[in-house]
Amino acid sequence: MIDAHVHIFPPPMIENRERLQIEDSWFGETFGHPKAKMRTAEELIASMDKAGVDISIVVGWPWQSNEHCAIHNTCLADAASQWPDRIVWLGIVNPAAAGAIEEIDRCTALGAKGFGEVNADAQEFRWSEPEPWLEAVRRIESANLPLMIHTSEPVGHGYPGKGLATPAEVLAAIQTVPDLQWVLAHWGGGLPFYELMPEVRSACANVVYDSAATSYLYNQAVFRRVIDLVGVEKVLFGSDWPVLGQGKLLERVRTLPLTEREMAAVLGGNAARIYCIGTRMRADTLSFPRINPEATL
Ligand SMILES: [Zn+2]
Repeated sequence: MIDAHVHIFPPPMIENRERLQIEDSWFGETFGHPKAKMRTAEELIASMDKAGVDISIVVGWPWQSNEHCAIHNTCLADAASQWPDRIVWLGIVNPAAAGAIEEIDRCTALGAKGFGEVNADAQEFRWSEPEPWLEAVRRIESANLPLMIHTSEPVGHGYPGKGLATPAEVLAAIQTVPDLQWVLAHWGGGLPFYELMPEVRSACANVVYDSAATSYLYNQAVFRRVIDLVGVEKVLFGSDWPVLGQGKLLERVRTLPLTEREMAAVLGGNAARIYCIGTRMRADTLSFPRINPEATL
């Protein structure tokens, strides 16, 4: 059981929340709200134990400066070394800011299993304008690691964090670096529907989707529908804890009309394959082949 999308913070960042709200405008917008939760690795482990989650893939916060990113990454690496069987981490970088390449290399050496959750709105670039971010994203590609990015729906209700990384923007980036393993958080802002178009389907051969924040955005039927649109091998369970409780979302997913094999893939097998984790996972949950764009449509 893998939760492929949770956020934790280093205790010194939690203590300096007010200062960080001034230093980083996107953080200020999100965490200016007193109810927005910042949680530590210890609190995550307690939540995982309660919810029955074996492994969490943890991400930091999309800081504008790579200095803030580096502080956060060091904390994530520490958490993973303290709980090596429970925590896998992704390095956070601002691919469009100074110091990105060095931080990518440092995270790779520290054992990051990928990068994310990169957020174009927070980090002040556009996915459809590759020049500022391309070199850094190619570095991630050449390290053979996945990149998880925040996405937003072009329609529907507003909320803190909703931005411009909509399917059209994100698809432009995917087409620029098509061999990178892309992980689109929050169901790709609706991109799965467009995978019914053959050219989008083949452009998205190396794209998977996570379910982060589902109950804030969609009806639970989104799991079944997206599996039917893109194939079960492209769907990863992620809660977005502490935005959503791990246990509650997991309970709901377990009641959905999915086969045992689909459930195993969504609740861990796919994340293990994408992030190359789980030498201790059961072999049958790891056996999905690399996606063939023509195979299911
Ligand atoms: Zn997100």
